[in-house]
Amino acid sequence: MFCPKCKAEYREGFTRCSSCDIELVNEIHEKHEKKHMKDETEIEYIEYDLVMTTFSAMDISLIKSILEDNNIAYFIQGESNVNMVGGLPARVLVKREHAEKAGEILKDCSFSYRTIL
Ligand SMILES: [Zn+2]
Repeated sequence: MFCPKCKAEYREGFTRCSSCDIELVNEIHEKHEKKHMKDETEIEYIEYDLVMTTFSAMDISLIKSILEDNNIAYFIQGESNVNMVGGLPARVLVKREHAEKAGEILKDCSFSYRTIL
């Protein structure tokens, strides 16, 4: 058992930290890390919008050069999965303030396969 505040370790049977007067927890580190990772994922979704998905690695390199030419902040999820049979498409995400502009630019391009959202 651990105190989440002062990190003191207690033997089985103890339920409260005698210094901090708060509930002890079973595993302090695991809980803390899981919460941290969850928060990071949420931040990504707040700042970035999904503008399109594609199964084509050629499209991805084209999209990258277009976005870079226009100074649009982006990242691509699942890029390494696109050539796998039955795999998930890569997801192109751009920073929210650029999402509208990126959508306009990508609409005018011809891709081998695409889903504009
Ligand atoms: Zn404590």
